[in-house]
Amino acid sequence: MSFWDKLKPAAPTPPAAIGTDVTSDGKVLRLHWEDGKRTASTARSLRLACPCAACVDEWTNQRTLDSASVAETLTLLEVAPVGNYALRITFSDQHATGIYPWRVLREVTERAPAPS
Ligand SMILES: [Zn+2]
Repeated sequence: MSFWDKLKPAAPTPPAAIGTDVTSDGKVLRLHWEDGKRTASTARSLRLACPCAACVDEWTNQRTLDSASVAETLTLLEVAPVGNYALRITFSDQHATGIYPWRVLREVTERAPAPS
């Protein structure tokens, strides 16, 4: 490590969710963050933001998922932690390849909050 590396500010670590909860109808994921914030998004908003290689072209970063193909009635079948950095979400359309890091979950739930 050089002298200049020591002067660089450390990259801010995104806050992690300390609590996750899916509403009983399976439509909304609620997150409780370590900084005290609570956010929530619908299954559909999360599905549209899926970061997996089937939904985003890995070379161009273009979203290839057609939003018209995602039903308004989409629900969450399973939300499982991946290490301590992400959640793997299984949707009712059987899409289960999306791994959502905390940074993505925070961004989506703040940009597209679930109506309460
Ligand atoms: Zn995907």
